[in-house]
Amino acid sequence: MALLVNGTETMRVLIVEDDAGIASGLAATLKSSGYAVDVTPTLALATAALRVEPFDLVLLDLGLPDGDGLDWLRAVRQSGQVMPVLIMTARDGLPDRVAGLDEGADDYVVKPFEPEELLARMRVALRRSEGRASPLLHHGELMVDPAAHTVTRNGEPVVLRAKEFALLLALLRSSGQVLSRQRLEQALYGFDEVLDSNALEVHMHHLRRKLGDDLVKTVRGVGYFVPVPQNKGVA
Ligand code: CA
Repeated sequence: MALLVNGTETMRVLIVEDDAGIASGLAATLKSSGYAVDVTPTLALATAALRVEPFDLVLLDLGLPDGDGLDWLRAVRQSGQVMPVLIMTARDGLPDRVAGLDEGADDYVVKPFEPEELLARMRVALRRSEGRASPLLHHGELMVDPAAHTVTRNGEPVVLRAKEFALLLALLRSSGQVLSRQRLEQALYGFDEVLDSNALEVHMHHLRRKLGDDLVKTVRGVGYFVPVPQNKGVA
């Protein structure tokens, strides 16, 4: 019998797993624990799912038919999504664990794992994310809240479209480094999106119009960067 706890909101979990047996077993376990569950067997479908539905947590296999889960996770984090991601993998080598955590995973479970262990780790990750202070990004006069998708300049709100926001976030997170066109396009678009050849320039143009020409520098033939802000020394 299901026990409903007052005030407990249903948590929505996305399982990205191409092994149908593992995926359906996991989905059944999670559903019986009160989670709302969606399963996608490819990274492209996972990207599409994240675009239409907010998820509280993602369980991510690494070996997917259309790519490596770690590459996907990097793009998800670059786009500003902060929900907890737990990696499920048979690769139990130290380098893979470190790589997963570096790319923005919150935790790791090594297959085969006990359902009880997974559920416990999920609860820890969800608790942590609920209490997580919003990691604000400060850059000169700009303050960016990746979770709330808001930008202020000198305390005044600046309204950015989703792609402009993703572009700004990618540039600020790597300030001082030149980011190639390809890297920025990866941060902006899902793997299954077809984009116009000048799409990046269009978003860059709008971003500069809204935030000033000085913020983003062009390195012709290479890419773009945001300089590290100079400290205005106080004498
Ligand atoms: Ca797999």
